[in-house]
Amino acid sequence: KPKGRLAASAYIDGILKGDRMLLSRAITIIESNLESDKVLAKEIIQEILPYSGNSIRIGITGVPGVGKSTFIESFGKYLITKGKRVAILSIDPSSQRSKGSILGDKTRMEELANMQEAYIRPSASGDTLGGVANKTGETMLLCEANGYDVILIETVGVGQSETAVHGMTDFFLLLMLSGAGDELQGIKKGIMEMADMVVINKADGDNIRMSEMARIQYQNALHIFPLAESGWSPVVSTASAIKNIGMDTVWDEVCNFKELVDENGYFEKNRNHQQIDWMYNNINENLKNLFYGSANIKAHLAGLEEDIISAKISPVKAAQLMIDEFKKSI
Ligand code: GDP
Repeated sequence: KPKGRLAASAYIDGILKGDRMLLSRAITIIESNLESDKVLAKEIIQEILPYSGNSIRIGITGVPGVGKSTFIESFGKYLITKGKRVAILSIDPSSQRSKGSILGDKTRMEELANMQEAYIRPSASGDTLGGVANKTGETMLLCEANGYDVILIETVGVGQSETAVHGMTDFFLLLMLSGAGDELQGIKKGIMEMADMVVINKADGDNIRMSEMARIQYQNALHIFPLAESGWSPVVSTASAIKNIGMDTVWDEVCNFKELVDENGYFEKNRNHQQIDWMYNNINENLKNLFYGSANIKAHLAGLEEDIISAKISPVKAAQLMIDEFKKSI
């Protein structure tokens, strides 16, 4: 057991009382890969679960340079003026802690980082997206139990982490710029389709007119998509994160969305769905690790690869053999 670990009840009590230091220490346990910490983490999560969920969870994405950190700093400060407590988390499987993850560099949100009503936690490190997403998801639950009522989860606008963030948030926000095509911004159609709101950032100075044009273009483009299951039609707005302009519009739309989905039942339905998905994703991930981690499987696989190449066995038959071998061991 690592030095300085407390009993689970100490973390639980601390978190429920709004203690920030114990929150941070509990998150460190969630992020730890030590077996004893995994046991402790499960105990903490289990106990705080009934006190979690009472927040609006907002996913934020956009390509590097679009202004995500600047936007979160500005939006976060705006939310605090509205009496909210804001937790800022991120999913970035590509970055290791040591290299500095997307939120690792706190100077990017300097003012927010110093506010009592804000809590900023850099991306957990890990080998797989699933592993990182699990840690962020559990961190989110702890933050909610600690009293944060708006959770912002940032992700870089490339790869699959958007889908993971979309799968754990209520509202998905896509930041874009004027004057660059979708392809240039590396935003895939699938990500546009996930967006509940698109914000054209950097709508300031010489960019205002172009941003307004981009807003109309994107608004028209979004109308082509079929109506989402939520019943919500995505909106497009302009903002200047650096000048703190447009934050009220973003929050108003989040509130409009929340009102709609509370009323039509989608909010709860979606959250339930996400919880169930979380379990299945976890099972899949664990099964894969169990399978490929097995010494017996490892020993067989190398030989089988050769047999496939020399056409001694078909890939499908080889797979079946491995599954049969795996079944023997369980
Ligand atoms: P991220 O990589 O998406 O997190 O982007 P950053 O927040 O680090 O911003 C990238 C650059 O764009 C920085 O130099 C910011 O100062 C600048 N920037 C961010 N928001 C705005 C904005 O609203 N207007 C202008 N003019 N520049 C901005």
